[in-house]
Amino acid sequence: MTVVTRFAPSPTGFLHIGGARTALYNWLFARHHAQFGSGGRFLLRIEDTDRKRSNDEAVSAIYDGLTWLGLDWDGDAVSQFSNAARHVEIAERLLTEGKAYKCYCSAEELQEMRDTARAEGRSMRYDGRWRDRDPVEAPGGVAPVIRMKAPLVGETVIPDLVQGEVTVANDQLDDMVLLRADGTPTYMLAVVVDDHDMAVTHVIRGDDHLTNAFRQFQIYRLLGWDVPEFAHIPLIHGADGAKLSKRHGALGVEAYRDMGFLPEALCNYLLRLGWSHGDDEIISSDQAIEWFGLDTVGRGAARFDIDKLTSLNGSYIRQADDARLVELILPTLKKTLGNQLSEDTERRLTRGMAGLKERAKTIPALSESAEIYARVRPFELDEKALSLVEGEGRDHLQNLANLLAEHEEWRADGLQDTVRAYAEGGDIKLGKAAQPLRAALTGRAVSPSIFEVMEILGRDETLGRLEDVLNRG
Ligand code: GLU
Repeated sequence: MTVVTRFAPSPTGFLHIGGARTALYNWLFARHHAQFGSGGRFLLRIEDTDRKRSNDEAVSAIYDGLTWLGLDWDGDAVSQFSNAARHVEIAERLLTEGKAYKCYCSAEELQEMRDTARAEGRSMRYDGRWRDRDPVEAPGGVAPVIRMKAPLVGETVIPDLVQGEVTVANDQLDDMVLLRADGTPTYMLAVVVDDHDMAVTHVIRGDDHLTNAFRQFQIYRLLGWDVPEFAHIPLIHGADGAKLSKRHGALGVEAYRDMGFLPEALCNYLLRLGWSHGDDEIISSDQAIEWFGLDTVGRGAARFDIDKLTSLNGSYIRQADDARLVELILPTLKKTLGNQLSEDTERRLTRGMAGLKERAKTIPALSESAEIYARVRPFELDEKALSLVEGEGRDHLQNLANLLAEHEEWRADGLQDTVRAYAEGGDIKLGKAAQPLRAALTGRAVSPSIFEVMEILGRDETLGRLEDVLNRG
């Protein structure tokens, strides 16, 4: 059997972190079955029936967010709104079959039911007053809603692939509206019809939809359709245990991109937020496709921890291709330095990237550390660096500048030998010589190996930068 999953966001905001994780799980489940089972497809449906709250910008943000994360969907995205006629057709079919009915309740009557429920301390349930009433009693000039006939007795049991067996007594479910008085379908009807028409086999979504699942289950039953498997995944909470909100960093995925996170790091983090494979922390996309299953999705709420994401991002930066990282830092670098970067600089950045990426945990941090290769002479030294090129430091710098001017083969190991020999000759620690060099060449007290930096800067730039500092007086 081909597994068909879907991601069905409502385009009312951006693709937030919880939605991205839902999409990821659906994508992985489908791709796993495509590669290791008997087929799998991942579909995208934009639930845009609420015209007032849906907007094109949010739809684009969903496409962009999924694309950035590498979660490609099969076929064209489906617009739920464009299926409205089909939803109406199904509601009318249920009406004809006597499985749904027209309800002419006024707003006042419904309000009364709501008030009574509140007074009795229970949630509002429609009392079924039009369920068996003769339609000839219908008041004139009132457009009815269409309600489903929900079972009155017994219970509904859903074997949820994450939550286990979940049961609700049917007298807790009321005769839900399928079609509003203005003829528009409700979400509950639309989602069932679309999932059926799209041949969805597995509905994987946040557990805030668990109560909807009972109602949807009844609609499937009334229609005589196969019920898909349900898997309701626990929501993401903040580090303090409260439901994730903006305060915790529940931002759109584009905000994480702009903060300098790599998509593969965010995917890996979201994957582990609620699913595990032993103690594995770093899991590539291929491994995730191979290993992913719903049986190891946790039942407890996962906690979002930006520090963990940041540290995982550092691991992915270390693994990332150097040329790609250069591309990623260029916009920030140009903005910070306010200049176009020469080809020479770009070459230096590419050569220096292996050393730079060892330390950075985000792209902006990487860009900041890369400034050392992109500076235009003469440049300012930071305070710490300035203190290193004064007094004794300056003397060492002068001596080293003289020595290096004579240095022939401009390679890190040879340069290191020269500086080491100088330190040994003067009976000083290597750092006493290397730190002023670092300060003068990079403007900072911290950088990748200074000998590597010298090799990458090249002879002329290195000697020029030293001269600038020595000429400062
Ligand atoms: N459109 C719903 C939402 O964005 C999801 C519906 C579903 O997955 O069944 O919460």
